[in-house]
Amino acid sequence: MSETLDPRAPIRVRHETRMRLLEVVRVTDVTPMMRRFRLKGDMTGFASAGHADHIKAFFFADGVEPFLAPIGPNGAQWPGERPQMRDYTPRYWDVDAGWIELDFVLHGDGPASSWAAGATVGSTLVIGGPRGSLMVPATFDWYLLAGDETALPALGRRIEELPAGSKVLAIIEVENAAEEQRFVTKADLALTYVHRNGQPAGTTSLILDAIKSASFPQGVAYAYVAGESTMSKAVRAHLTEQRGFNPEYVKAAGYWLLGVADAQEPH
Ligand SMILES: Cc1cc2nc3c(=O)[nH]c(=O)nc-3n(C[C@H](O)[C@H](O)[C@H](O)COP(=O)(O)OP(=O)(O)OC[C@H]3O[C@@H](n4cnc5c(N)ncnc54)[C@H](O)[C@@H]3O)c2cc1C
Repeated sequence: MSETLDPRAPIRVRHETRMRLLEVVRVTDVTPMMRRFRLKGDMTGFASAGHADHIKAFFFADGVEPFLAPIGPNGAQWPGERPQMRDYTPRYWDVDAGWIELDFVLHGDGPASSWAAGATVGSTLVIGGPRGSLMVPATFDWYLLAGDETALPALGRRIEELPAGSKVLAIIEVENAAEEQRFVTKADLALTYVHRNGQPAGTTSLILDAIKSASFPQGVAYAYVAGESTMSKAVRAHLTEQRGFNPEYVKAAGYWLLGVADAQEPH
């Protein structure tokens, strides 16, 4: 069936790329390893229609005050060295009130995690995007959501936005019970957390094992998997090769790759 004729086909929309210079006005530790920043500034035109959307956050060299670069045909035009960029999920926002909240995993290495460990009220952050959104219809018989801590913002958004009557099976890997987040939803949610308990992130097969042993509801499902890239790829292969998932209805994203800085890839 062609994409346009499939009533369940996810819909992509593009957004005008805008850069924003925002200021931290609130810092909250959602859990010991997940730090939420409320950033205030001009949010005019901000749109994020899909739970898997991301903004680019820019991290400048030591001693350089964050600033906005003009947008050219190929994105931001940075004079001199381009700041480091990392992807983050818009968790909550209010365009009229002029704020957005981003959740950062404090994993201990890299410019984004280091920024999150040190930023306080008054710190500034440049963000760009989202450049587009992928909207998955709420008409599937059920939804599989899986991922590690980095996916919690996207999975949380999806869980919170799905309407009453939606059946959701969620399997989420976190360090331990203290890292579990609870969600308010009208959906019919079955949420399982699996715990690394001291094993390093990205080194276990906990998510894949939990999915392998899960019995799935009947009907046509859409799966969203995100987190460490090797895990995500393995789950996608299992779902499409052994569990009868339509590959068109599996979005498996590599949000990071063990041992590699600034790595993400779709599968
Ligand atoms: C679409 C999308 C949305 C995302 N949304 C979020 C979000 O909302 N919140 C969030 O926290 N992350 C999110 N991520 C993941 C985040 O972009 C990556 O974890 C990124 O690598 C963090 O950058 P960094 O500068 O901290 O580390 P990097 O400089 O990229 O990496 C440094 C080292 O840390 C390792 N590393 C990276 N991330 C982790 C981790 N989580 N645990 C353990 N080791 C790690 C790398 O393998 C590397 O060895 C998202 C990624 C994508 C693609």
